[in-house]
Amino acid sequence: MDLSIVIPLLNEDESLPELAAWIERVVKQEGYDYEVIFVDDGSTDRSWEVIMSLRASNPRLKGIKFQRNYGKSAALNEGFKAAQGNVVITMDADMQDSPDEIPELYRMIVDDKFDLVSGWKKKRYDNTFTKNLPSKLFNAAARSMSKIKLHDFNCGLKSYSRKVVKSIEVYGEMHRYVPVLAKWAGFRRIGEKVVEHRARKYGVTKFGWSRFINGFLDLMTIFFVGKFGKRPMHFFGLWGTLFFMGGFLIFLYLTISKFFFDQTGMTQRPLFFFAILAMIIGSQLFLAGFIGELISRNAPERNSYLIEEREL
Ligand code: UDP
Ligand code: MG
Repeated sequence: MDLSIVIPLLNEDESLPELAAWIERVVKQEGYDYEVIFVDDGSTDRSWEVIMSLRASNPRLKGIKFQRNYGKSAALNEGFKAAQGNVVITMDADMQDSPDEIPELYRMIVDDKFDLVSGWKKKRYDNTFTKNLPSKLFNAAARSMSKIKLHDFNCGLKSYSRKVVKSIEVYGEMHRYVPVLAKWAGFRRIGEKVVEHRARKYGVTKFGWSRFINGFLDLMTIFFVGKFGKRPMHFFGLWGTLFFMGGFLIFLYLTISKFFFDQTGMTQRPLFFFAILAMIIGSQLFLAGFIGELISRNAPERNSYLIEEREL
């Protein structure tokens, strides 16, 4: 199969028929062997009925339904597991992403040999203040931390080679960072394409203000897990040792001052409290690292790595 289109959705029953018709028009014109996988992330409206009725007239449209709302990441992850195409394209269900972008996104994976191509909503049709501005900051942070030159990490419209989606696990709210996950998994050819963005025609946005706070915390997590997930002691141990040694040296200095230079009032000095604090923080960090090591030792994926080729 050439192409799988994965569409996570939550309460988008109004857009689905139009979206499906538009996608069909584009892919038939290009002549792909394709499938569309709708992942219903626990909708409470008629979305699932709509998907089923669409499927009745075109069996290439497939559906996965969650028992309750698990989030866009979980929906993408299930869609990725089910996808059979050599190229996988994700898009939002609200028709803010245009299916007309599909052929070029497909071509960039197949001909230009990109592992992943991310859309860039250069001109956005969202509320400037609550979305565009924070989004710029957020993307700048993601760019500088991940060293991936993308303008729009969170764009729902992306294409992947099959290998990528089968190698990564999108969990929590990590859908914002799929390019980072791909990079950590060893896929380096990450491209970008300016895509048309459209105003939401039906329904409402499913993410509020919290997206930016959560997004930033997730960025820290991803950075930490990617770098130290398998060797937590290298992070906690280093800082723990530095703090502890710092506190210890201050104590040493205070003790020497007291016994050899007859100074008094050591316990009144701010340095004294700083030394205690530093030693406590140091041992805490060290312990955290130690526990982290024990956990990662027992993690089922402790030895997971991706084999690119095997010739035995
Ligand atoms: N979505 C989802 N599960 C959720 C939230 C959103 O599957 O918990 C889907 C939603 O239906 C849409 C896409 O993710 O297809 C993007 O959501 P939305 O359009 O609300 O985000 P925005 O465009 O405002 O960033
Ligand atoms: Mg949207």
